[in-house]
Amino acid sequence: MAHNIETQRQQLITSLRNGGVNDERVLSVIATTPREIFIDEAQRSMAYADCALPIAMGQTISQPLMVALMTQALQLSGEEKVLEIGTGSGYQTAILARLSAHVTSVERHQQLAFLAAKHLMQLGITNVSLYVGDGSLGWPDAAPYDRVLVTAAAPEVPKQLVDQLVTWGMLVIPVGSHTRQDLLVVHRAPWGPEIRSLGGCVFVPLVGEKGWSE
Ligand code: SAM
Repeated sequence: MAHNIETQRQQLITSLRNGGVNDERVLSVIATTPREIFIDEAQRSMAYADCALPIAMGQTISQPLMVALMTQALQLSGEEKVLEIGTGSGYQTAILARLSAHVTSVERHQQLAFLAAKHLMQLGITNVSLYVGDGSLGWPDAAPYDRVLVTAAAPEVPKQLVDQLVTWGMLVIPVGSHTRQDLLVVHRAPWGPEIRSLGGCVFVPLVGEKGWSE
């Protein structure tokens, strides 16, 4: 079984490379972070399939390729203060925590935040602060951040999230309709936000004041 999991992980890494992930630090952290512990017992055989899977509260653990591409886009060196909106299972949080100095993560569902905290503790990850609330407004108490990652789809880039970045900080966020979005990279330049798209994606909605209504 252990050998089987190792083989599946290596196959996943190959498929991430084929999907355009070439940051070796990101690949190495994904190869050594057990995704199965963030997934319900019934889904565990699918832990290393490159697909999103259902978690509690009608939400999803993101597709590994999307986790890898978003993390790669953040260009983390290990020194950054990161804000993540949409903790979900905590899997992406674990990846960010292993590549940065500190992660503040906000989840709107208390039950998900509770489970994520348990799983992060299981992995011995301690550089994460988890909060329950509406992350569409960011988390001003710990601002400014070097990086912000939003793991749910917004109708537009919330100004509050850009305002909570340091100058030249970076926000990665899916923006578009309920059914289809563009993955945007927003740099907070001194003269204003600079935005580019990494391509199409599909995420669950960001629900909140600067997101969608429930
Ligand atoms: N990256 C996560 C993982 O690896 O498990 C998956 C995140 S899931 C695709 C999106 C999450 O965003 C859901 O857990 C959802 O409850 C949360 N969410 C949606 N709107 C939110 C908001 N306004 N504030 C905080 N979390 C929110």
